[in-house]
Amino acid sequence: MPSPYWFEDGDIVLAVEAHTCKIHRAKLTCSLIFSDMLDLPQPVETDSVDGCPSVTLYDSWKDWLVVLEWLYAHDAFRNKPIVFDALVGALRISTKYEISELRDWAVAELCARWPRELELLSTQSLPHAAGKSARQALHARPDGYRSEAINLARECDVPEILPGAFYALAVQKWHCSAEGGRSHVVLSSADLRRIIAGRERLQDYLVQIVIDPLGRSDEPPPPFCAGCVPPLERYWREKLAPDPTSPYGSWLLRDLLAMAKEDGPIPMLQTVCANCSFLHYSLLYDRMRTLKQSIPRLFQL
Ligand SMILES: [Zn+2]
Repeated sequence: MPSPYWFEDGDIVLAVEAHTCKIHRAKLTCSLIFSDMLDLPQPVETDSVDGCPSVTLYDSWKDWLVVLEWLYAHDAFRNKPIVFDALVGALRISTKYEISELRDWAVAELCARWPRELELLSTQSLPHAAGKSARQALHARPDGYRSEAINLARECDVPEILPGAFYALAVQKWHCSAEGGRSHVVLSSADLRRIIAGRERLQDYLVQIVIDPLGRSDEPPPPFCAGCVPPLERYWREKLAPDPTSPYGSWLLRDLLAMAKEDGPIPMLQTVCANCSFLHYSLLYDRMRTLKQSIPRLFQL
């Protein structure tokens, strides 16, 4: 079946699944693999279609359509909203055929969705939810993107998004997902185990804080004065107490960040002295930092 990418002056035909396209070799030189292949003398008995050599590729046509659009309608491609499927196609083909510019773009887009700065995950992991609010999107596609992201990261060697993708799966309550969640179907049993183990450890970490909000497991507690301890403990417990109605479990990094960014004087902490307030924020930032650093270890990545 000819495609919209059938140019009369094209000089190579690609056959992918049941589709063909007649395009320009010059366009394909962005790929190291095609460059090398096209540099080789072509054997006389090469398959020929419409006067051009024809190459059969064992990829998905859907993936190639993304790359063809990138090759031939570059500006439109860069300006339209990016859907996850387009990222998948771009990443698969660009990795396999070594198209570094396209791969760099796809990796950057993935890293924007599942950032290293895990506390930012709440806002940045949802831009592909075109036309829906972030909340609706999370309910509608609860884990599909994230578990797909894990498989994609493994398939195409983008390990940098794994902590974000695992963390995003672990903070959601799977029974709240509209589709029932497909992670158990698409993920390997080893990855599923990583999510469960990570989720348990996050939960343990939270429980430890709720039991002893101002304590530290690794060193003596900071020297809070006796009068400041009760309001501070109340504040920590109130902010981090699990909410049974939330579709998320312990989204601790987001909650800690929200505490750190709370604007203006905090009524619950009005009676806390300046020194204890300082100790409190030090503890808060310290917990945020150590938790963020330990996420890959919690998920055995
Ligand atoms: Zn004090």
